[in-house]
Amino acid sequence: MSTRTVLVINSGSSSIKYQLIDPDSGDSLASGLVERIGDAVGAIIHKHDGARTVIDEPVPDHGFGLAEVLRLFDQEGPSLKEANVVAVGHRVVQGGSHFSGPALIDDSVVELIEQLVPLGPLHNPAHLKGIAVARRLMPDLPQVAVFDTAFFQDLPEEAARYGLNREVADRYSIRRYGAHGTSHQFVSKEIARRLGREDLKQIVLHLGNGASVSAVVDGHAVETSMGLTPLEGLVMGGRTGDIDPAAVFHLVRVAGMSIDEIDHLFNRESGMKGLTGQQDMREVWKLIDAGDQDARDAIDVYVHRLVKYVGAYTAVMGGLDALTFTAGIGENDARVRAELCHRLAYLGVRIDEERNATRVEGPSTISTPESSIVVTVYPTNEELEIARQAMTLV
Ligand code: ADP
Repeated sequence: MSTRTVLVINSGSSSIKYQLIDPDSGDSLASGLVERIGDAVGAIIHKHDGARTVIDEPVPDHGFGLAEVLRLFDQEGPSLKEANVVAVGHRVVQGGSHFSGPALIDDSVVELIEQLVPLGPLHNPAHLKGIAVARRLMPDLPQVAVFDTAFFQDLPEEAARYGLNREVADRYSIRRYGAHGTSHQFVSKEIARRLGREDLKQIVLHLGNGASVSAVVDGHAVETSMGLTPLEGLVMGGRTGDIDPAAVFHLVRVAGMSIDEIDHLFNRESGMKGLTGQQDMREVWKLIDAGDQDARDAIDVYVHRLVKYVGAYTAVMGGLDALTFTAGIGENDARVRAELCHRLAYLGVRIDEERNATRVEGPSTISTPESSIVVTVYPTNEELEIARQAMTLV
């Protein structure tokens, strides 16, 4: 059978990221980025076959940007026709309670994504723009939405429901939806494949600028740290993670702050950035190496939160077989991995220090043969997961 490919689109408010993927081999045939949509200056960067084409031009809107991308595929290759594109896969952050898997996009699916804008105000409107222009420019291709929340749609009720007044929670759809689901699903499936067994109790640590942890039993998510929004859970690059909601009342009453100011404070000016002045973990380590005590304390807060979640999720699952690190920090920060794993010695976690410290392309098992838990560093690939899921509907 000839190769079939999926064009994966991640449409943001001022950018469009794309990748042409063969879901069977996992090969990426081309990728690129439209930047600074709506600005006076913009750019389109297209990568194919080791070549990089950059067009510096203003990109007034998403429609113009995607039309330029399609022109670049024609001009620079690969030809979408020859690559046998059979679907367009769209990343959608918030699928609410409507979607527990990928959805073939039609007007009713668009309407549901629109209805979910209040739950995903930063992301869903931008995804809708990408979907609308892709439908217009590629009307003959099936368009599939893949939701970041879908993997967590079937969380057990006790994990999804807050201890909030039932009537209020249900009226305003307040429950735990999670996020990063595409990554957690991809990584947990890959680990099951790698270990050759489905019946696994897994914890996946997606530690990027945004960070989340999930507990997965026999392929099904049973817990995750992000909640109604991606604010809950771990300490992140700029977000607080878990914090007593009474801090909001306190800041309103005592500091006279507005809700928007607090939203900004919790989502953008907190986490590692708020604790150290640096959002990027590499910069935080530089501060520590220069003797900065606040930065050292911040890593302690970061790792402490991880220790709590791993312990809690191990308790929820009644055990743990596999612990996996992924995303920017998970894949690259050997010191964070080592600090966490040393704290997990009580669970029988043993890591090979040298393997942990050695950077490799691709997956790497960093636990020793004696370790009672398999610890792996596994690069996430959300685009490939989106392509695979899109393929299931065409
Ligand atoms: P997101 O997709 O959430 O924007 P990524 O998964 O790309 O984030 O992770 C980005 C973060 O990864 C950076 O902010 C940085 O903190 C961290 N990171 C990347 N490379 C390294 C590294 N070599 N060492 C430590 N941290 C790193």
